[in-house]
Amino acid sequence: MNGADLDLLVLGSGVAGLSAAVRAAETHHMRVGVLTKGELSQSATRWAQGGVAAVLHTDPDSTDLHLADTLRAGAGLCDPEAVRVLVDEGPVRVEELIALGAAFDRDEQGRLMLAREGGHSLARVVHAGGAATGAEVERALVAAVQRTAAAIYEFHFAVDLLVEGGRCCGVRAFDPGGGAIEVRAANALITTGGAGQLFAVTTSPVEATGDGIAMALRAGVAVADIEFVQFHPTALHHESMPRPLLSEALRGHGALLRDAKGERFVDELQPRDVVSQAETAVMIAQGVDHVWLDATGLEEFDQRFPTIAAELRSVGLDPATDWLPVAPAAHYTCGGVVTDLVGATSLPGLWAAGEAACTGVHGANRLASNSLLEGMVFGPRAVEAIEAGVVGPAPTGAMRAVLAGDPPGPPGGSGHGPLPGAAGAPTVGSRLLTWGGLGAAVGATGATADGTEATSGATGATADGTGATADADGGSRGDEPGGGGGERSRPFAAPVEDGPAAIRAALQRAMTNGAGVVRSGASLAEADRGLRSARFDALAAGPPSGPGAVAVCEILNLVDVGHAVVLAATAREESRGAHSRVEFPEPRDDLRLRLVLA
Ligand SMILES: Cc1cc2nc3c(=O)[nH]c(=O)nc-3n(C[C@H](O)[C@H](O)[C@H](O)COP(=O)(O)OP(=O)(O)OC[C@H]3O[C@@H](n4cnc5c(N)ncnc54)[C@H](O)[C@@H]3O)c2cc1C
Repeated sequence: MNGADLDLLVLGSGVAGLSAAVRAAETHHMRVGVLTKGELSQSATRWAQGGVAAVLHTDPDSTDLHLADTLRAGAGLCDPEAVRVLVDEGPVRVEELIALGAAFDRDEQGRLMLAREGGHSLARVVHAGGAATGAEVERALVAAVQRTAAAIYEFHFAVDLLVEGGRCCGVRAFDPGGGAIEVRAANALITTGGAGQLFAVTTSPVEATGDGIAMALRAGVAVADIEFVQFHPTALHHESMPRPLLSEALRGHGALLRDAKGERFVDELQPRDVVSQAETAVMIAQGVDHVWLDATGLEEFDQRFPTIAAELRSVGLDPATDWLPVAPAAHYTCGGVVTDLVGATSLPGLWAAGEAACTGVHGANRLASNSLLEGMVFGPRAVEAIEAGVVGPAPTGAMRAVLAGDPPGPPGGSGHGPLPGAAGAPTVGSRLLTWGGLGAAVGATGATADGTEATSGATGATADGTGATADADGGSRGDEPGGGGGERSRPFAAPVEDGPAAIRAALQRAMTNGAGVVRSGASLAEADRGLRSARFDALAAGPPSGPGAVAVCEILNLVDVGHAVVLAATAREESRGAHSRVEFPEPRDDLRLRLVLA
């Protein structure tokens, strides 16, 4: 099946994609295809622990309080209207998920149990299996999609968007054997998750390589807030990767953070950025690579957190008696593909939701347990809009930054003023940064498998394996093996490493060192050099087609998203939310704006 008769092609099978797929097939009887690079159940979603934040009981809580907490965490960059949608529609989506069969934890009277997490002023987080919420959410949604979807493409890797006549009409992909195929549909929804794999220490699963965001960048689709990478403050300091996460809920229940001397150094219930940055400062000052989480005072640890308790015991730690070594780990990509309030991107026919999207909900930092909720709310909203015949984006949510840009940023910045077509009065200003990639061709390369109208290409990952070499400005680069002319040496002095796994690891180290919890202009420049090396080495590893192509494509996607992170983080000469610059420790009023890459 080539998917030509699909109403909707969903890319990815986490909470956002599956929620959308179920809504489209069950409620609107659309022909839906779900294309995902692993098994259907493979996603960051299934690793989610703490739960879903939603106001299910309004006394003493309220959606206004949830909204206020979310805005506070977002450090001035949330779109209040998007947050309003999230908090108002969230409870209904949770009820629907329960009706679909998701079993959340309840007390002896059958009432939903609520946990409190960092940044929330009240307990409002529903959970399942103690701290195995994502697995239950994913289980319920996978079962529903298996019943209703017209086509499920497991182990298919989306490479690039197909764009014809100014409209997205599907994707080019690799099938499980590495063969190049096209999957066409009237609409495509990017729900490919975040890019935690940009960093050496992360809680995100191996598939979190920012593929959808990279595809959008290459197609010239607007991406924003990408510099805001949330680092979770309590990842277990242990050699396994992704790092086991010690849920926020532990601190919500009273676990304390202690430095190398056993002293407390931060209010544990502050938002994640505050706690991660405090940990990093302590670790640097004391010359250590972790701090301690003291959960010895928590009652009924094993009953409340059976998954975490089992995980700790498997590495020889007893939370009743041992302090637990923790350090920050990359955890959540706050920015992504810019959408309006119904998930429309700047490219007609292309929609986005979940961690891959920038709806305006998270601003400069995500509030704990708002992301499962975001996927559940905004995935189905895109479906409703498709059903209603919406064609292009409206200036709402984060899309305001594209369609209704504020006046340009201050002179001397690296921005280029408001985006074309800007008008109106948004709540948050915007500035355009030109994303040219690190040698990837942006815009039409004509590099499709069959010579049809140009795709957004390319990662260098053309389906015919030729590799793209044209630069954004039409030139070719000297720093890539296949590039014509100029110097062909490697752009970075570090030793060349073999194989995709080693190249990816080197890229991750460069990003962790240069674009991690705390950044500087110099460290970001260093990170960019690491990205260039990774790109050079990945292209040298061979033409990205056939078996093994996915590993190379993922590196090239990480390079593209990493370059976007570095560009935006360099331009943001302030500290705000999850973005911290040593030379600019305070937020600046004139930078209370969304940096848009296109
Ligand atoms: C350890 C951990 C704990 C967390 N705990 C919580 C929590 O308690 N509460 C909360 O709200 N959030 C939590 N989060 C965050 C939350 O899990 C994610 O933000 C959310 O699940 C993202 O959902 P999504 O549908 O957008 O993407 P994902 O769940 O990441 O799904 C993305 C999908 O896209 C597929 N994909 C990616 N690239 C391609 C490609 N090129 N081609 C085809 N398919 C592709 C992937 O295989 C996957 O199926 C946690 C995250 C982690 C890592």
